[in-house]
Amino acid sequence: AKSTHGEHVCFYEARMDEVARDRRALAKDLWQAIGRNEFSVHYQVQKAVDTQEITGYEALLRWKHPERGHVSPADFIPIAEECGAILDIGEWVLRTACAEAASWHNQAKIAVNLSPVQLGHVDLVHLVHSILIETGLSPRRLELEITESTIIGDKARALHILRQIKALGVTIAIDDFGTGYSSLDTLNSFPFDKIKIDRSFLLEAEHSPQARAIIRAILALGKSLQVPVLAEGVETVTQLELLKSEGCDEAQGYYFGRPAALVPDEAGPDIRRSA
Ligand code: C2E
Ligand code: CA
Ligand code: CA
Ligand code: CA
Repeated sequence: AKSTHGEHVCFYEARMDEVARDRRALAKDLWQAIGRNEFSVHYQVQKAVDTQEITGYEALLRWKHPERGHVSPADFIPIAEECGAILDIGEWVLRTACAEAASWHNQAKIAVNLSPVQLGHVDLVHLVHSILIETGLSPRRLELEITESTIIGDKARALHILRQIKALGVTIAIDDFGTGYSSLDTLNSFPFDKIKIDRSFLLEAEHSPQARAIIRAILALGKSLQVPVLAEGVETVTQLELLKSEGCDEAQGYYFGRPAALVPDEAGPDIRRSA
C-alpha cells in the first residue's frame, strides 16, 4: 500500500489516541474493580530443585473484567501504577494473600509482589505490620518480591524501609534479577534474602551458552553472598536438569504448576484450605 508520509503520521496519531483512550478506560475500571469483586489471587508453587520439596507460593493477581474477560497483570499493573490505583490494589493483594495463606494447613511461604509505587507512597512498614497482625500470618512466612527499579529512586529511603520490613521478620526477594539497571550495586547494598533469576535466561539457556554463563554467574554470586537463588519459568525437565547440574536452589514454573486459585492437591491434604 502506498501512503504518503502525512497519511502515515495521521494514522499513527489516531492509533495513539485509541491506545490512550483505552488506557484511560481501563484505569477508570481499575478504580472500581476491588469494590466490584473482580480481583482474585492465584498461587504458583516454588520448589527446591534437589528434593522438589515445596518452599513457597507466589501470589499473582488476576482481574476478570466484566466486558473484556481476563486482563493480564502485565497489561494492567503498569496502568494501575500510572494512575495510582496500585496503592489500593497492592494493599488488597497483600491482605488477601496473607489471609489465605494463614488458613492453609501447611507452613509454606507466601511471596507477594510489591510495586515500586507502593514503596514510594504509603507507610509500607505500618501496612505490612498491621496486615500480619490482622491476618495472624507469621512474619517468617511472608516474602516480598521487589524489582531493582524499586530501589533506583531514593536509595537511602528505600533501604531504610526495607530494613524496617526485615526487622518485622519478613524476607525480601529480588525479582527479575539480571534485567534491571544496577544489579551488582543493588546486591552490594540491599538486605535481600533471595535472588529470582528472570525467566528470559532459562528460556534461552538450552541453546545459548551466553545465557547459561549468566545463570552460572548469578548462581556463583548467590553462593558467595550466601543467598539462595530461584530460577523462574521452568517449563521442561531438561531445564530442571540444567538447573540441578548448575546447583540452583529453587525453581518455579509451569513444569511444577501453573498459577491456580487453590493451592494444588499435589501438596497433599495438609495444604488444602481449612474452609
Ligand atoms: P512476575 O512477578 O515475574 O511473575 C511471574 C510471571 O511469569 C507470572 O505472570 C507467571 O504466571 C508467569 N510464569 C510462571 N511460570 C511460567 C512458565 O513456566 N512459563 C511462562 N511462560 N510464564 C510463567 P503473570 O501472572 O501474568 O504476571 C505478570 C507480571 O505482573 C508479574 O511478573 C508481576 O510483575 C506482575 N504482577 C502480578 N501480580 C502482581 C501483584 O499482585 N502486584 C504487582 N505489583 N505486580 C504483579
Ligand atoms: Ca514476582
Ligand atoms: Ca519475576
Ligand atoms: Ca517478570
